[in-house]
Amino acid sequence: MGETNWAGNHGYAAEAVLTPRTTEEVRAAVEAATTVKALGSRHCFNDIADAPGGVLLDLSALNTGSLENPVEINAEAATVTVGGSARYGDFVGQLHEAGFALPNLASLPHITVAGSVATGTHGSGRRLQGLASAVSALELVTADGGLRTFSREADPDVFPGLVVGLGALGVVTRLTLDVVPTFEVRQNVFEGLPWTAVHQHFDEIEDAGYSVSLFTDWTGDRIDQVWVKSRVEPGAPVTALPGLHGAVPADRPRHPVAAAGVPAVHCTPQLGVPGPWHERLPHFALAFTPSVGEELQSEYFVPYGDAVAAIEAVRGLGDQLAPVLLVCEIRAIAGDDLWLSPSHGGDRVALHFTWRPRQPEVEALLPLLEERLAPFGARPHWGKLFHSSALSGHYPRMADFRALAHDLDPGGKFRTPFIRRTVFGEAGIRLQNRPPHHTP
Ligand SMILES: Cc1cc2nc3c(=O)[nH]c(=O)nc-3n(C[C@H](O)[C@H](O)[C@H](O)COP(=O)(O)OP(=O)(O)OC[C@H]3O[C@@H](n4cnc5c(N)ncnc54)[C@H](O)[C@@H]3O)c2cc1C
Repeated sequence: MGETNWAGNHGYAAEAVLTPRTTEEVRAAVEAATTVKALGSRHCFNDIADAPGGVLLDLSALNTGSLENPVEINAEAATVTVGGSARYGDFVGQLHEAGFALPNLASLPHITVAGSVATGTHGSGRRLQGLASAVSALELVTADGGLRTFSREADPDVFPGLVVGLGALGVVTRLTLDVVPTFEVRQNVFEGLPWTAVHQHFDEIEDAGYSVSLFTDWTGDRIDQVWVKSRVEPGAPVTALPGLHGAVPADRPRHPVAAAGVPAVHCTPQLGVPGPWHERLPHFALAFTPSVGEELQSEYFVPYGDAVAAIEAVRGLGDQLAPVLLVCEIRAIAGDDLWLSPSHGGDRVALHFTWRPRQPEVEALLPLLEERLAPFGARPHWGKLFHSSALSGHYPRMADFRALAHDLDPGGKFRTPFIRRTVFGEAGIRLQNRPPHHTP
């Protein structure tokens, strides 16, 4: 078929990509298909968004802002409703202008809301939940072509299972998100945080701002960069920040992936200059390629209380990781009750790896990494590269999710190889990856 994901490391094995323009066209396409999956902005790194032998529904033609899919801000209810193809970057400015904000965003605004919440995508902040927690209602095209609406309020028994749905329950055509009053944020980067400070002051470092990210290549005795995003009152004086447990404020804007040589202009404004939430919470600006572009990613979530021990376990592999690693980001996420959320059941710390685009070498390292993180019950990010598909034990509500998938999709239209491996625990279902033109 020749179509690939954003990273170019997965060539879709579906027979065709359809581009429905209306919800009615989505319904007809789902009803007619035997195997089907929705495609968001294609930022996942594995086969989660693929439908081998079936059809993919690229929803980008279901334009946000069109008559079919308007952005609806309900000030009284404090919600925003967007279409199934909306990228965060498409409407966050409009939301801010209307006096509202989302509590948090991921590192990039280029991704769709539907695709992000389907995989449990998150930003950073010890007291901030993943992006899926903001979803209060969903409109879903189910396997029979039916159109159903579910909400947190009306469907409390199943709603927590629907949001992080891995694309396995249907095609989301509208989503409603909770919003909060708009706010301003300033972003400061600190350099050279001693590892000893991470061990001794982890909680204080995580509490240094509204959202905190640590960037390291695991070598040396210091963490390269600490990004601290702090809420500020409009008009409040901008004071210079002192150091952070031995790290010093950067004297100019930085890109978090120093090893890649990408200019810092690709990032959102730093140096403590206050600005609207949507122009500070993502690391990367919508107008530029986020992160590096030529890369692969993996990420593992461990209980917050195990963070320092898990970090030490990975540090022990530093020399083996270094040749393939571009950078690692350490973030905290507040726990939630969504069945397949990687933060289900308690606060988590996520260890994220941005790899050089050398898939065989990355795949050789993942079992080692997973072995080191196994004592902490590490859950992989659903949308990134991981080795072991034996995930049932990590999710206490997995059996409920399977039952929900059976109810909504009795014939298994959305039960693609990824879902069969990871959710239904079927052995021998290999990753159907047809790497196209992606050479190291
Ligand atoms: C540069 C970069 C930075 C990233 N930063 C972060 C980060 O900060 N935090 C983080 O957690 N992750 C991050 N990710 C991972 C990314 O957020 C997730 O992979 C996310 O799921 C991508 O969303 P998407 O719109 O591209 O979805 P896709 O990759 O297109 O699809 C993902 C899943 O969602 C399903 N889906 C998509 N649309 C619909 C729909 N309308 N209805 C039903 N199912 C649907 C698909 O079937 C598939 O199962 C990053 C990825 C990249 C490339």
